[in-house]
Amino acid sequence: MKLTILGFWGGYPTKNSGTSSYLLETEDYHLLIDVGSASLIALENHVDPLLLDGVILSHYHYDHIADLGVLQFTRQLKRMKNNLERAPMLPIYGHQGDNENFKRLTMDIVSEGIAYHEQEKTYIGPFEIQFMKTLHPVECYAMRITETKTGKILIYTADSGYLPDFIPFSKDADVLLADTNLFNGMENHRVHMTASEVGKIAKEADVKKVILTHLPQVGDLELLKAQAINETPTTEIILAEKDLIIEI
Ligand code: ZN
Repeated sequence: MKLTILGFWGGYPTKNSGTSSYLLETEDYHLLIDVGSASLIALENHVDPLLLDGVILSHYHYDHIADLGVLQFTRQLKRMKNNLERAPMLPIYGHQGDNENFKRLTMDIVSEGIAYHEQEKTYIGPFEIQFMKTLHPVECYAMRITETKTGKILIYTADSGYLPDFIPFSKDADVLLADTNLFNGMENHRVHMTASEVGKIAKEADVKKVILTHLPQVGDLELLKAQAINETPTTEIILAEKDLIIEI
């Protein structure tokens, strides 16, 4: 499977790049994971938004859903190439812990909200997805995404403070896409993780590769990366950047 970073800043967009949004693809399936600010524009450089097969949302903070409404409008207004047909109904997976936001996932003839649950695996196209509730001010879920054909595993922590449960949840993953919004010294924060906490998860879970994301706008990102590497020097650790493509 192929992972493309569309947006990676925490909280708000800056410097021509947006907030959390990731495109996960196989040959015939295109899944958008979170739909942060500026993600629709970034998406267009990789795939026509009409060709998306599904969307999944970790939680309903603005920096993860800012472009959801305009994605729905795109599917409502834009027509498929060479004919007048609308794109098919878009399944948008989200949790039902916040019913007001969940209801917005459904739009007549455009999209249908589908609830996922922490206790159940969800199957979306070529992917099997397990969920873990994170430590965050609003209900939010990390995802363990397995490509059923290859067994390759992507972990997306979504937004979270450090939880020991991330270690079993991330066990033997090929890629850990981790909220690293904080520099060291802010450990046990209730909203986000520090670089060393992410490094610790990667080390204990034997993760092959780490992508630091939900990055802070202030501070030296090379230092952030060095702090994570310091925790697990033999693990490959990189910073998320716009349009970065990772083959998993
Ligand atoms: Zn959040």
